[in-house]
Amino acid sequence: MNFIEEIIEEDLSEGRVREILTRFPPEPNGYLHIGHAKSICLNYYGTAVKYGGKFNLRFDDTNPCKEEDEYVQSIIEDVAWLGAKWEDILYASDYFDAMYECAVKLITKGLAYIDDVTAEQMKQMRGTLTEKGTESPCRNRPISESLRLFEDMKNGLVESGGLVLRAKIDMASPNINMRDPIIYRVLHEKHHRQGDKWCIYPMYDFAHPIEDAVEKITHSICTLEFEDHRPLYDWVVEHCEFDPPPHQYEFARLAIKRTIMSKRYLKKLVDTGFVEGWDDPRMPTLAGLRRRGYTPASIREFCERIGVAKANSEVDTALLESCIRDELNLTADRVMVVSDPIELIIENRAEDFAEELDFEINPNQPEKGSRKIRFSNRLFIERDDFVVDPPPKYFRLSPGGAVRLKNAYVIRCTGYEMGDNGQVNLIRAEIIEGTKSGSDNSGMKVKGTIHWADAKTCADITLRLYDYLLTADESKGDFADRLNYDSIRVLNGKAEVFLTESPPFERYQFMRLGYFVRDCKEEGAVYNRIVSLKDSYKG
Ligand code: ATP
Ligand code: MG
Repeated sequence: MNFIEEIIEEDLSEGRVREILTRFPPEPNGYLHIGHAKSICLNYYGTAVKYGGKFNLRFDDTNPCKEEDEYVQSIIEDVAWLGAKWEDILYASDYFDAMYECAVKLITKGLAYIDDVTAEQMKQMRGTLTEKGTESPCRNRPISESLRLFEDMKNGLVESGGLVLRAKIDMASPNINMRDPIIYRVLHEKHHRQGDKWCIYPMYDFAHPIEDAVEKITHSICTLEFEDHRPLYDWVVEHCEFDPPPHQYEFARLAIKRTIMSKRYLKKLVDTGFVEGWDDPRMPTLAGLRRRGYTPASIREFCERIGVAKANSEVDTALLESCIRDELNLTADRVMVVSDPIELIIENRAEDFAEELDFEINPNQPEKGSRKIRFSNRLFIERDDFVVDPPPKYFRLSPGGAVRLKNAYVIRCTGYEMGDNGQVNLIRAEIIEGTKSGSDNSGMKVKGTIHWADAKTCADITLRLYDYLLTADESKGDFADRLNYDSIRVLNGKAEVFLTESPPFERYQFMRLGYFVRDCKEEGAVYNRIVSLKDSYKG
């Protein structure tokens, strides 16, 4: 049991809570990333579903400057894709009236006041971890005056940033968050849902507990950086007189090595054109992972495997990759695709020779049986499956050497031709009779097996291989200094024709190359490598 489950089970058994209600509260200022998936899985599968409760999707749209409807739509799509079922889609901005009422209540109780400090003064007067803050001269402004000024703020009579409403708590508190934090500010900005209705907007620390309280959220689960804000959360709930009060619990956020986990920074990658868009298959966004070929089940499995803890740590991308690899090993049909083709002619077969060979569709799903693949005297093999001067223990093809063509015959290389560029451009070989796969009676033993494509019937496809967005150098602090400018490789491959007719999101194992998915946007037959077959990007 993780610590959240322990808390919930205790709350249920001691009757403090009757029905669990959790929420996922994204700010619609970007697309969701895999860190958000951890939060969704915890709030939905790990709590609401597990304890027979309910789950809300609530947009924390209290800052009109950065929020957009495109993001709202993408978030709804991504949460649904992960499989979470919300009770309601809610918007924090729908509670602006309730928040305004709460603010008035605090002023009336002498627990909030209007201040005219600038951001600069505010910073200076806040104090430090070792020094107390300084009380503002406005702190003891009469209640009636604060009420009047707050109404002026609301009515548009104050310019942006001109006045603020501050909670009156304790400028000497050891917790800086409690030193009379700003709870409302003036912002003449159009809101994506409210339009021009408001020109004052609540701050996160004031708005969030009210959102939770209005919805009667029982367990408000957020990431560890909000731990120091919890006293303020409790203060707001108490003094705004919400009953029952919601409670905040903090867990460790997900961080993955060599991955950027911040909407703000991911937006920068989009805005600067470093990636194609939010759904670029290199992005750790859910849209990117989806386009990359990850399944919802593999991401849920990942969230399950990483668990829920109270201490921050970084996990390896390998863990995420192993989740999709394990799934696709069972489900993905096998095909042979040559990613960097070189032609091979079989000299002891005529030009009109052609055979249909049986090819097993998926060894982990024998019930799928086999399909026919065409084999003729002209093939493509991988350029790097042939070397002129083989090193010791080289088991693939070289002049005079033999190798098995997967599912077909053992061949021996009888020669090769060089092109003008100094590269081999044609390989000559012969079939060794009696070595047909499945009916081999030659007694011949070869160590290597390579894949191939039939040159006469194959089609062209594009393969995109990906690497991390960030270089491994962690000594450099800023992401901008760590961007990997070599994170995509595009290859023109040869494959069976049906791969040009597969629907978007169809996944395959390209034998020896990795798991691939048909891209969902590109016009032609473009396949993205989801993950290599072994535990490393380069395979
Ligand atoms: P970002 O910095 O990427 O914008 P955020 O925390 O500002 O993240 P929100 O939209 O406020 O983004 O996040 C919605 C919910 O997702 C919050 O409850 C937040 O705690 C949670 N969350 C965000 N990032 C992570 C993460 N890396 N791991 C786990 N939960 C996360
Ligand atoms: Mg945020």
